[in-house]
Amino acid sequence: MDKKDYYEVLGVPKTATQDEIKSAFRKLAKKYHPDVSKEENAAEKFKEVQEAYAVLSDENKRKQYDQFGHSAFTNASGGFSGFDGFDFSDAGDIFEEVFRNFGFNTSSSRGGKKRRQNGSDLLYRMTVSFEESVHGGKRDIEVECEDTCDECHGIGGFNSHTCPECKGSGTVTRQQSTMFGSFLTKTTCSHCGGTGTSFEKLCTSCRGTGKVVKKKTLTITIPKGIDTGSRLRLAGKGEAGVNGGSPGDLYIEFAVKEDNFFKREGNDILIEVPLTITEAVLGCKKEIPTLYGNAMLTIPDGTKNGSKLRLKGKGIDSDINGKKGDMYVIINVVIPTKINKKQKELFKLLSETELDDENEFIKYNKKLKD
Ligand SMILES: [Zn+2]
Ligand SMILES: [Zn+2]
Repeated sequence: MDKKDYYEVLGVPKTATQDEIKSAFRKLAKKYHPDVSKEENAAEKFKEVQEAYAVLSDENKRKQYDQFGHSAFTNASGGFSGFDGFDFSDAGDIFEEVFRNFGFNTSSSRGGKKRRQNGSDLLYRMTVSFEESVHGGKRDIEVECEDTCDECHGIGGFNSHTCPECKGSGTVTRQQSTMFGSFLTKTTCSHCGGTGTSFEKLCTSCRGTGKVVKKKTLTITIPKGIDTGSRLRLAGKGEAGVNGGSPGDLYIEFAVKEDNFFKREGNDILIEVPLTITEAVLGCKKEIPTLYGNAMLTIPDGTKNGSKLRLKGKGIDSDINGKKGDMYVIINVVIPTKINKKQKELFKLLSETELDDENEFIKYNKKLKD
């Protein structure tokens, strides 16, 4: 579940070109190649790097990954995906802490000027109904995150001028005398905090930080086919950057409530349908509820208990991996417990029916008798 971000694995920004991805891959592949590497867990890391490259070097896969994260590839078929560590409480949507901060593009320009800092990514956990997971939908969410201060446009104050203390360098040089002689030490200017500029008036709404906490309403489009653990990435909707740094991303992580009737397995749906003994023996037509309205199912005569009948294309039509699943109807032959006298007579008549010779139990008994 907790797979590392592919961009992080390769150490490239999300905006990396194919050439940058290729060169990062070559470097890391050389570093971690199990035949030559002396690094710890080299084989594991080599695999990680290969996997990340396989996805990011393929523009289609990369697009899918950018939008849905790892869930674009883990929900492809079969099996329930990660139920680990999830809080299924009905407390509603839980706003999570800032969970990651990619350190890319965090450049500090010369002289200790204001550092450009990218905004953190945010994670939002959303619980959706089974219906919504099948058909998709829209939801408004309110996120509280740090954003650029409107008053000062993120600068932190008004009428900036060169810091008189450090004359714009951001550092001050102090002479220190010790028993070994005198030393010159360079320290960050305390007057301007190393930015090299100070303000005539500090911004009061952000107290000079350039950032304020804002509540924002975002309309989230829930893709069809999401499963528990699926992640949706909204590029640039995370925390604001500082000093021209790019904003982080917002990740929506879904938890899907289970349905009592429709069970999901990958993109396939399983349902259980009860049949009477006569329906199973003689066959019948039955109206079956599906995710897309009712469908007529022909149940052939002699259908066994536990049989699986397929309704093609009636499974989940997933936006995440672009595949459409099937629906499987599992037959449950119900044995009647309350029968009247006449029915009992009929069952007695039926009891003369012999089981066919192919039955293993009959074969075994026959062997004992011989
Ligand atoms: Zn200064
Ligand atoms: Zn401000």
